[in-house]
Amino acid sequence: MSTEIIKQNPFQSMIDRFNIAADILNLDESIRQKLQRPEKQIVVNFSIVLDNGEVQNFEGYRVIHNTALGPSKGGIRYDTAVNLDEVKALAAWMTWKSAVTGIPFGGAKGGIICDPRKHSKTELEKITRAYTKALSDIFGPEKDVPAPDMGTGPDEMGWLMDEFSLVHGKTTHAVVTGKHLHSGGSLGRVEATGRGVSIISLLALQTLKIRPARASAAIQGFGNVGLHSALFLFEKGLKIVAVSDVSEAFYNPDGINIPELILYYNLNNKSIKGYPNSIVIQHEELLLLDVDVLIPAAKEDVITQKNANDIRAKIIVEGANGPVSSDADKILHDNNVLVVPDILANAGGVTVSYFEWLQNSLSESWRMHQINTRLEVILEKSFDTVFRTAKKHHVTPRIAAYILALQKVAVTQSVKEVAL
Ligand code: GLU
Repeated sequence: MSTEIIKQNPFQSMIDRFNIAADILNLDESIRQKLQRPEKQIVVNFSIVLDNGEVQNFEGYRVIHNTALGPSKGGIRYDTAVNLDEVKALAAWMTWKSAVTGIPFGGAKGGIICDPRKHSKTELEKITRAYTKALSDIFGPEKDVPAPDMGTGPDEMGWLMDEFSLVHGKTTHAVVTGKHLHSGGSLGRVEATGRGVSIISLLALQTLKIRPARASAAIQGFGNVGLHSALFLFEKGLKIVAVSDVSEAFYNPDGINIPELILYYNLNNKSIKGYPNSIVIQHEELLLLDVDVLIPAAKEDVITQKNANDIRAKIIVEGANGPVSSDADKILHDNNVLVVPDILANAGGVTVSYFEWLQNSLSESWRMHQINTRLEVILEKSFDTVFRTAKKHHVTPRIAAYILALQKVAVTQSVKEVAL
């Protein structure tokens, strides 16, 4: 094998897997071309007045990858590293994610280049409202429905809903999901992605016949996804031996008390730094621990050709979108690491977003029990279908998930093309 390390980008990783699945499906060239590219890419520029009186300019994106299966759906990311290629990949993954779980949505993603930690609440509100105004013709309950992603949460979604409603002159709850309960949000949405990751992790353990009470896990990232994945798996009896956030990574072979860590994190300005009863390790070390389940729940391309051979986990459950780059796929497969792909593993978030959108559209509010039961049913069915498809085609669960998604989107897309 060549020792040259090719720098991957998330869009390339998406395309590599897409092509493998498209070859297996013998997908028509015109449909292939169509589905590789987003339907729409919008770049917006806007300025706000900062708290100190200075004016700052921002660049934001919204990429609509595909709307064959329904209105496009996907989060908005606030991060300094946001770029169009990343948003394009994330938008496509949303299309595949909705298709794998059978949710009637297409895929989109948005982002603003900014550091949310460096802005006050007032500035974040201005940024969100300006971005929404710039995209007020794009968003819409039956057109394009945003949601939270890295760096955004219920506050931003509430501002977006309010601004959109102001521009259009009517309250429109269903234009965005992931809102606070008082702005029309759904019970269970905040923890939905982490809950989904935990459900999927338990199913993956079951396929390897490992009992949860005997299993260990390491979790990279302690944002919304990492924190809730850790909590639910801890409650199911897994020993969480390592966690990390941007500030620190630590390890405790006896297991970390996650509820206690969450209390510490909340009192410590949303940081795990300095948590006692554990050994501080290097961030990269966490990924290489000998655990049953490794959950990368931070960002893209953390497992690449460079470190894939050193991974000792039996199972990787992709809490983040795109944490494994395509150049690592074969290495992990050859080393018998079971990888549950993002478009299945973290689909709990968009699934409960769908429930929120439905509740808004029907003016209903569902109980927690109803939401969690429906979520579990959808994820179990999707997991089962992906794993059965993997067996049938002798491919990895990732390629199986792409096959399932491509099949659904391609059929609908080609029917639409013919109808034109
Ligand atoms: N940003 C989340 C994701 O990547 C949720 C998207 C949504 O709820 O629409 O899946």
